Amino acid sequence: MKDCYSLEDIKNKISDNDSMDQDTKTILNSLLIHINDMSNEITDLQKRLSETLEYAELLEQDMDNIKEEMFGEEIFDTFDEEEEFTYVEVKCNNCGENIYVENDLMKEHLFCPNCENKLF
Ligand SMILES: [Zn+2]
Repeated sequence: MKDCYSLEDIKNKISDNDSMDQDTKTILNSLLIHINDMSNEITDLQKRLSETLEYAELLEQDMDNIKEEMFGEEIFDTFDEEEEFTYVEVKCNNCGENIYVENDLMKEHLFCPNCENKLF
């Protein structure tokens, strides 16, 4: 006696068994066919899953390369720095509107958002 019979062994045992009626044999053989189908399907799924995982890993490597090419390695550092903005109040000498300008932008030429007069 084996501990575990293969599907083929079970099929032969059923067919050789004289104490079973034909209906029981048909039921058991049908079960064997379904089990065999499921087993093939699982093998196929495992193969496809493993291919998909390999593909995903390649995609991830590609993405990393693209990210590095586009942004360089410093992309992850830029969000760490917390910059403090200081604003300067500027009065438009055309329409009198008070405009708050970020300090760093004071070096550039800005226009009044209200009347489009050149501020400085
Ligand atoms: Zn203005």
